[in-house]
Amino acid sequence: EKQKLKRLKTARATTLDGTQIELQANIELPQDITKVREAGATGIGLFRSEFLFLNRDDLPDEEEQFLAYRKVAEDMKGLPVTIRTLDLGADKQLNGATSSGTNPALGLRAIRLCLAEPQMFHTQLRAILRASHYGNVQILIPMLSNLSELYQSLHLIEHAKQNLANTNIPFNAAIKIGGMIEIPAAALAAQAFARKLDFLSIGTNDLIQYTLAIDRTDDSVAHLYDPLHPAILQLLAHTIRSADKAGIPVSVCGEMAGDATLTRLMLGLGLRIFSMHPTHLPSVKQNILKTSLPDLTILVNKMLKTDESDRMYSLLHKLNA
Ligand code: PEP
Ligand code: MG
Repeated sequence: EKQKLKRLKTARATTLDGTQIELQANIELPQDITKVREAGATGIGLFRSEFLFLNRDDLPDEEEQFLAYRKVAEDMKGLPVTIRTLDLGADKQLNGATSSGTNPALGLRAIRLCLAEPQMFHTQLRAILRASHYGNVQILIPMLSNLSELYQSLHLIEHAKQNLANTNIPFNAAIKIGGMIEIPAAALAAQAFARKLDFLSIGTNDLIQYTLAIDRTDDSVAHLYDPLHPAILQLLAHTIRSADKAGIPVSVCGEMAGDATLTRLMLGLGLRIFSMHPTHLPSVKQNILKTSLPDLTILVNKMLKTDESDRMYSLLHKLNA
């Protein structure tokens, strides 16, 4: 059994028809890397950098951030390390801070907060760019809802690069920049984002929260959380197609990516990069190793045309049989 697990860890996630799938890991802090390496992930698809900022009374300065990002970049030895810029606000508040508005999930959070606090953002961007000299670092911008936020972000990244270049501090000038698709408007407008970015990453936790209007922190509506809602499948399919059309990679980094019962569905929708909590990686990989992509098309197309929840679940059952 131990031998089997070891073989599973080093095996590439290849489908029966020979398609290579990337299985990446989500992390919150640099020490999570140990589990990532044990699971045999081929990269970090989501580094939730805001966790460096939580449960403390001060903000980490540029140096502290740089050292944390560099450690992960070096430990991953050239594999991609996707650092998401601060996703603070809503359910992730700084000590002493109070959330904005009566609906924090709809308030000043993530990229909105960073654009409102450009100095804090600049410090983080410098730290990430400096770390990019030591590994395969890429930048991921959370909670984009319109192109203007993207343009402002790209401008601030350019400014931070200039700043470093002026003082001869090394960084990867060709660093890849991606955006999270986790607001329904961004999913519907994914083509426009895909044309301006190097990659997309779908955050299904928030995408489901906002599409179905269910607060992800409110247990009383947790039963309404449904990744198989037809609207969610349409948004996923549309986002994946938009990335494909623009010729850029797209991943899913929400909880859906680590749910082995949904692996075939997402493969059938065209997904080739999954990023998940490292504990889910072996079960998702096992599933991929048993899957032939051409066999998925008919059933997944049927799922995309289905409105009835019962039928959706019976089609999923067949897909996984
Ligand atoms: C998501 O929204 O799916 C996501 C991956 O980000 P977080 O869970 O950190 O909001
Ligand atoms: Mg999110």
